Amino acid sequence: MKLKKNKIQHLIEENQEAIKKYNVNFCPKLATIGIIISMIAMCGSFIYLDLKEARLMYGLIGVICVVLLCLSKVEKLRRYAVIWIYVEFFVLYLLVLYLSVIVSPDKSAASILVVLTIFPITFIDKPGRLIAVDVFMYLMHTIASFICKGTSLGTLDMINCLIAVVVGCFCGFYVLETKLQNFNLSRLLAYEKETDILTTLGNRRKLVQTIFVIEKGEMEGPDGVMLFDIDRFKQYNDRFGHQAGDMCLRAFGKMLKETDWGAKATFYRYGGEEFVGFLWGVQEEELGVIAEKIRKRTEEIVLEHENITTSIGYVFCKDASVISYEKWIGRADKAAYAAKKNGRNCTVAYEKYMN
Ligand code: GH3
Ligand code: MG
Ligand code: MG
Repeated sequence: MKLKKNKIQHLIEENQEAIKKYNVNFCPKLATIGIIISMIAMCGSFIYLDLKEARLMYGLIGVICVVLLCLSKVEKLRRYAVIWIYVEFFVLYLLVLYLSVIVSPDKSAASILVVLTIFPITFIDKPGRLIAVDVFMYLMHTIASFICKGTSLGTLDMINCLIAVVVGCFCGFYVLETKLQNFNLSRLLAYEKETDILTTLGNRRKLVQTIFVIEKGEMEGPDGVMLFDIDRFKQYNDRFGHQAGDMCLRAFGKMLKETDWGAKATFYRYGGEEFVGFLWGVQEEELGVIAEKIRKRTEEIVLEHENITTSIGYVFCKDASVISYEKWIGRADKAAYAAKKNGRNCTVAYEKYMN
């Protein structure tokens, strides 16, 4: 059981982003459910006149749910989705509590059973907290039921609601585990799909996707693009073996990823021994300085056999007429080609004549 609890905790920690997204989506849905319930109940009160006195409460709950629905759409408040869901459930709980002990003190509880059952199933939070809140709601209702309905109906409510809590908590735990496993699977699948397994940098697919997102205007484009090509790598493989070559690529990727270049930078494996770097918030001169730093750091990588060097082409993306980032990469590639021609192990900025 402890192992299972740790597993759930671990899944929650690893999948925070998906959990947040799920709760953000669920929040307005719950408010909508609240609006629909209060509307049905309001209509019902015109057919079943015993519910006449509850109309004010139905109206009030409906209005509160409309307000909560509007609030749940406010961008700044979205990050507190879980809190809003608790508030929405609390509002629904007040409604069913009112129905049970004030409107129908002579009948056994009905709608509260639904709230106690669905509460731990519908959204995602720490299981301990979900169970604690569900049990708290149950205890409050049971006490109110004994006070307002008497011992006989109070006992009946206590038993029926306990069944609802037990069913809700068990199903909730099962549903939670399934949802978390699905989130985890999707996350791992996305990671596998977008990651180069040798270097753990983004792969070509991730690069293409990033370019797509940038060109759609959903992400700021980089100010500089670099292309790295490891020098005489075929020779390295031939002399020290393919496995030693792989170690080289891994070490190069690690160096790119783990060094602080003083600017936001993302690197991708473009293919074979070629890599692409996107840099944000850099000026033209800084780009050259960073390229030179990378060249030097490459020479310094400690390897089992010989050290490696890299030829780097870079381009500053200031020309607003060029919107295609494939084209920027093409320009960086031309500059890298010039670096090869310059004798390798050097950095070259793209110039117009290279076209
Ligand atoms: P240059 O200095 O002109 O770039 O020469 P080069 O030998 O680096 O370039 P070339 O394109 O001739 O060779 C690239 C080599 O990279 C050939 C290929 O075997 C090797 N390579 C590509 N991908 C991998 C890989 O995943 N692992 C290993 N070990 N080698 C790879
Ligand atoms: Mg090459
Ligand atoms: Mg090469």
